[in-house]
Amino acid sequence: MHPDVAFDSAGRLGKEAIASEFRRQHRFICARIDRAFAWLMQIQWLAAICIAVWVSPLLWSASNHAKSPQNSLALYYGGTLTLVPIALIILKPGRRVTRLTIAVTQMLMSSLLIHLTGGRIETHFHIFGSLAFLACYLDWEVLVVASATIAVDHLLRTFFLPFSVFGTDAVQPWRWVEHMGWVVFCDIFLIVAIKSRIRGLRTLTARHSERAELLRRAYYDTLTGLPNRAFLSEELAEAIAKSTTQGLSFACLYVDLDRFKDINDHLGHAVGDALLRLLAERMREKLGNEPFLARIGGDEFVVLLLENSTEVAAPPPPSAEDVARDILRSLLQPFSFMGREMTVGASIGISRFPQDGDSEADLLSKSDRAMYRVKRAGRNGYQVYSSMLFPDTTQREEAEKSMVRALAEGEFSVYYQPIFHSNGAVAGLEALMRWQDPVRGFISPANFIPVAEETGLIVQLGNFVLQQACKHAAEWRSLGLLPGRIAVNVSSLELARENFAEGVIATLMQHNVQPDAIDLEVTESALVDDFALAERHLQDLRRFGLRISIDDFGTGYSSLSRLRQLTLDTLKIDRLFVEGVASSEADRTVVQHIIAMAHTLGMTVVAEGVETEAQVHTLCGLGCDQLQGHLLARPADKQATEEFLIRNLERSALSDPQDDEFACS
Ligand code: C2E
Ligand code: MG
Ligand code: MG
Repeated sequence: MHPDVAFDSAGRLGKEAIASEFRRQHRFICARIDRAFAWLMQIQWLAAICIAVWVSPLLWSASNHAKSPQNSLALYYGGTLTLVPIALIILKPGRRVTRLTIAVTQMLMSSLLIHLTGGRIETHFHIFGSLAFLACYLDWEVLVVASATIAVDHLLRTFFLPFSVFGTDAVQPWRWVEHMGWVVFCDIFLIVAIKSRIRGLRTLTARHSERAELLRRAYYDTLTGLPNRAFLSEELAEAIAKSTTQGLSFACLYVDLDRFKDINDHLGHAVGDALLRLLAERMREKLGNEPFLARIGGDEFVVLLLENSTEVAAPPPPSAEDVARDILRSLLQPFSFMGREMTVGASIGISRFPQDGDSEADLLSKSDRAMYRVKRAGRNGYQVYSSMLFPDTTQREEAEKSMVRALAEGEFSVYYQPIFHSNGAVAGLEALMRWQDPVRGFISPANFIPVAEETGLIVQLGNFVLQQACKHAAEWRSLGLLPGRIAVNVSSLELARENFAEGVIATLMQHNVQPDAIDLEVTESALVDDFALAERHLQDLRRFGLRISIDDFGTGYSSLSRLRQLTLDTLKIDRLFVEGVASSEADRTVVQHIIAMAHTLGMTVVAEGVETEAQVHTLCGLGCDQLQGHLLARPADKQATEEFLIRNLERSALSDPQDDEFACS
């Protein structure tokens, strides 16, 4: 069970939260009083009928009144006074309209009883008893309405039917004054009683707040005000139960801040705490109200995200990958903090219900493992859990065997995605590996490349891609089709090999390819492990004539001095920043700074993952040199790429490349 108390959005028991809790309790109490009135009213109705049958004939015998009107009054009028409020009690228990109706009808019932007993003083006490009972509602309006009703009733009857109020014998005005005196006295008495009840209720609320505060501490993190691990545990259990019955799926994102320990160690825990609060606020703001966000440890957060909805008309919710990118982007915007600017990266692992697990422990451990994969790959990114990524020893051997077999049987192939100059002309191609397994179908590089890196098979695969790229480059160059270079991705494992540069040069020679036809893409994380060796390889290859690009820039931790030291040729801005460049001022500023910095270092800038016209427009406006993305061209196999290159050649022979529809100017 969740804490059943009302908290504000930060998990604190605010004034508004107390007031709403008070209202909730009050409505509950009122509903119980309503039910008690329902019983009382039925008894009164029965009593009215009995009085009409047995008492009224004796009292009214001296008057002209016949016996039957009293019976009809008791039966029909009494029935109306009973059944109307009972209907409301059933339909709207605890509501204001119900208790006001009860107040009016209860007073009219008092009046009826007084009439039936010929104004006997005993029945007048029914009014006071009713008022006392109505006071239990702790509602001033109820007493005012009840008093007004009985006052008007008595006033009217004094004029039109005095016998029925004051009895047949003593029709004197002072009796009316006496009756009203009683009502006023009773009200004063009740007001005093109510005041003391309210004091009592305040004490109760205070006690309730204390209990709520204890619950808050048990379910909320004191530093950030976010739900804590215990709350997450219950939320996860609820999400699993709900998704199972409704056939829904949800994602669990495990967010771990990068190098937060360094901040704590170097700047102190007070700064660390303050920064955590800011980060939590920023994440909460970015996520909006919907996804559940909890802080479960020092620098660890978990997001639960429903990925489909039962409502057909509802717009599809964002995917876990979109949300992960949003979080990373929001954290990478610099914090102005204690006079300094800092950015914090995060590593995010994603697991999904039901495919990755059907228990809380399963989902958390899998997203945690996926998160560690990001840490190992250089931090600041996200990874979706896949059983392929974490094979046990036998599974690993199986995966390795199936990849070796796939390589031998030609299941791997190379696709090419064009990269364009900002004027629309083709600047080159990026070689991207593809695996088409006959049984499992298409397997994404995001899934098999980490396994290949783990098993060391990436070296063979990388070599295969380079061989293919060189072969195709030589072929296309000889036909005059290749306008620029082919970029080949290089993994950190390849770069860590002693003879990597020699191997690349040998492959180029083997295929008789000029070095100006190949570009090597290395990620920032590939430079982290053995920087000196990586630097040596890259400088050797540059001297030989190849160009070196830094891939996925912005998601790793390249220090500026390292970038300068390496003298790289191209910088590829990661899709993470390109995605928000047109819509977010902050992303635009980040991209603007990256471009300015790269240009200062003499590098060409490529934006990856361009998907919209607006992004093209903004990137060109910011001075981005080249663009790559699905909007412009998707990766395609060798055959399709060749056709694309032929078309491109024909078009550039016929027209100016600036005729292209996405050209910046
Ligand atoms: P990458 O080097 O950053 O490659 C760009 C990725 O972005 C490719 O994914 C490409 O298909 C995708 N992409 C391009 N434009 C768009 C777009 O507009 N929207 C979206 N959503 N995606 C776009 P792919 O082919 O799945 O490759 C993923 C990653 O796998 C690559 O990222 C690279 O790191 C790695 N990879 C692929 N081939 C190789 C390879 O031969 N060797 C090595 N070491 N890694 C490779
Ligand atoms: Mg790449
Ligand atoms: Mg990239």
